[in-house]
Amino acid sequence: MQSAQQAQFIDLNTQQDKIKSQVEKALQKVLRHGQYVLGPEVVELENKLASFTQSPYAVSCNSGTDALRLLLMLHHVGPKDAVFVPSFSFAATAEVVALAGAVPIFIDVLDNTYNMDPQSLEQGIQQAHKHQLTPRGIIAVDLFGLPADYPSLSEVAQAHQLWIIADAAQSFGGSLAKQKVGTLADMTATSFFPSKPLGAYGDGGMMFIKNPEDAAQLRSLRTHGEGSDKYDNIQVGLNSRLDTFQAAVLLEKLKLFEGELRRRKWAAALYQALLHPAFDCPSIESSFESAWALFSLRCQPGTRAKTMKALSEAQIPHRVYYPIPLHRQKAYHQFPLASSKLATTDRLAEQIISIPMHPYLTELQIDYIVNTLNQSIK
Ligand SMILES: *Cc1c(COP(=O)(O)O)cnc(C)c1O
Repeated sequence: MQSAQQAQFIDLNTQQDKIKSQVEKALQKVLRHGQYVLGPEVVELENKLASFTQSPYAVSCNSGTDALRLLLMLHHVGPKDAVFVPSFSFAATAEVVALAGAVPIFIDVLDNTYNMDPQSLEQGIQQAHKHQLTPRGIIAVDLFGLPADYPSLSEVAQAHQLWIIADAAQSFGGSLAKQKVGTLADMTATSFFPSKPLGAYGDGGMMFIKNPEDAAQLRSLRTHGEGSDKYDNIQVGLNSRLDTFQAAVLLEKLKLFEGELRRRKWAAALYQALLHPAFDCPSIESSFESAWALFSLRCQPGTRAKTMKALSEAQIPHRVYYPIPLHRQKAYHQFPLASSKLATTDRLAEQIISIPMHPYLTELQIDYIVNTLNQSIK
């Protein structure tokens, strides 16, 4: 039995209890109409999320990874092309570039936000030229829910005529200067993996773009490159559609979403107010709103193992995102780096730790987590 003070890392059950009967009704409706692929709920979700983000076009697909992949296909990224990605991210960010036959160049991140460092990006662009690659674009990651510094990254992008894809798999619901994630970059990819801020009960993803030609092109690419119909193939595409069942689930979860974002923000503020300053929390400028997919903090050098032991003993779930930076992974270590070392990325991988974060945390649970952490450094 779990006691009242013990939090889950991510709690999907409390949310399900709130919406179970509505979700069941919505799924039964899909069973009745039988349009399991690209049914009416999918179109409704695309429309609702386009209006939620104030983005001109939203096109759904099968996962966040496919959303990134389809956006690279839209730009015909291929051999001899360089795409700049942060090394401190989930594998999908670099994977899609390598799958396209292009070269991911790993960029360092900033110490205070864990997001892509514009200066390191400049160095990465020089590396691309050294390797005789064509710099094409940037995939900026909104790590742990916090939008990347798009204004600064855009300056670099414009100077070098690069596009920017926002990997917003973790940041749906976040914003910058009151502009919602979905509109902050030229193109945006998000994920509905169950543990993301807006999660389905399976895989799903969405792309946000600015013009109707790109939207039409992405709709074709996600359905085998179809032209006037499925059996008219005008280009090489994928099978990457959002299941109607998942769209039906997401439409119900969307009704809770803004309230849940407020709860996440409240929990994060409480952590930040109560945690001992020896734990470095991300510093967030006031114009940035994180979606708080995860709450991560940095331990002082050499103290993470001790902190994790204290959390384990108190039965507080915790994880390390990410223990091995992408540029040190077997699958990706052959690709170029922006500079001889990605020092901040390496340091974060040794110091970072994520603690429970979800909309249903209680003050009692947060106090217990904070006290355990603060005691552990005494
Ligand atoms: C989860 C995640 C993805 C991939 O999303 P899927 O829907 O699981 O394919 C991509 N990038 C980042 C940063 C993620 O966290």
